[in-house]
Amino acid sequence: MTPLAALLIERIREGGPITVADYMAECLLHPVHGYYTTRDPFGAAGDFTTAPEISQMYGELIGLALAQAWLDQGSPSPFTLAELGPGRGTLMADILRATRAVPGFHAAAEVVLVEASPVLRGRQQETISRGHDLGLRWIEAAGDLPDQALFLVANEFFDALPIHQYQFVKGGWHERLIGLRDGALAFGLAEVPTLPGTMAMYQREDGTIIEENRIGRFVIRQLQHRLHHHGGVALVIDYGGWRSHSDTLQALRAHAFDNPLAHPGEADLTAHVDFEALALQEDHHFTTQGAFLQRLGIEARADRLAQSLSGPALESHLAALRRLTHPEEMGSLFKVLALTRAADPQPPGFGP
Ligand code: SAH
Repeated sequence: MTPLAALLIERIREGGPITVADYMAECLLHPVHGYYTTRDPFGAAGDFTTAPEISQMYGELIGLALAQAWLDQGSPSPFTLAELGPGRGTLMADILRATRAVPGFHAAAEVVLVEASPVLRGRQQETISRGHDLGLRWIEAAGDLPDQALFLVANEFFDALPIHQYQFVKGGWHERLIGLRDGALAFGLAEVPTLPGTMAMYQREDGTIIEENRIGRFVIRQLQHRLHHHGGVALVIDYGGWRSHSDTLQALRAHAFDNPLAHPGEADLTAHVDFEALALQEDHHFTTQGAFLQRLGIEARADRLAQSLSGPALESHLAALRRLTHPEEMGSLFKVLALTRAADPQPPGFGP
């Protein structure tokens, strides 16, 4: 049993079952035993690998897309260049390297990183400080972002936010809870039904489970407030689809799926992102990661890099290109949502 499992069992014994959202929050961000607060989980030695860690092309293209959107909107100055949940800092480091030559972009940028984990903040500082003299600032939450034009990226951030789950049983929606069975953590349902949110209105089949990412919606509202008043673009990249359909809570440990209740604090916990729920208000653009990267010119960039590679390095470069774009790899499962003002030009990477 993990140390956090023991604490959670004690808490449930005293106070009763907890919501899936409470459970996720404790597992990921408990100050002493949380998954992100205690470790760097990325890469081959960690539990999972994300797109920025697969190839530098990913961050370069996103950097150029953000810079182009900034130019298209008349180069607002100063502006916030922000990332939500930067992990190891690789994506922002690649963004800054790729945009160094864009006239005025760095001079106008205030780099702001939203990160809850002290361990990862340290790691980001090391990765992102190199190669430029821009200052970096860390904040706790999107609500603290400066009140100015905002050019932002969030890669695999929203999937890590705590979700609530509800199941439709005998004519009512009941919140899914985590309680105890034979002394161990187990899923159950609240006895008293809850009032359905809008999403629950059109999925009333017995047994259906729906998920609500309330914190995600709150974060989006913070971004939209800045976009609405000052312009900019927010790119949300994650795996998921348009609308929540079922139980997608999953745990990853050492690159393999794990039972979400088996190793609290020692496995990554995520849920598919329901983009429809995040795309409310303002204007939005939506596409797959594969199509997005193709439109931004990943093939040409890959060819260019391939010229100086051979042997195993070339093979792994081509494998990375495939992994990022192919429909059987990340190309279709991962989606890109861009939020802008309706009056602003469509950001680069989206279709007609
Ligand atoms: N974007 C990175 C890391 C994704 S993992 C990449 O693609 O590689 C999720 C990141 O979000 C981690 O940095 C984690 O510490 C951070 N995070 C998770 N929940 C958070 C929260 N509620 N507030 C701020 N940061 C959070």
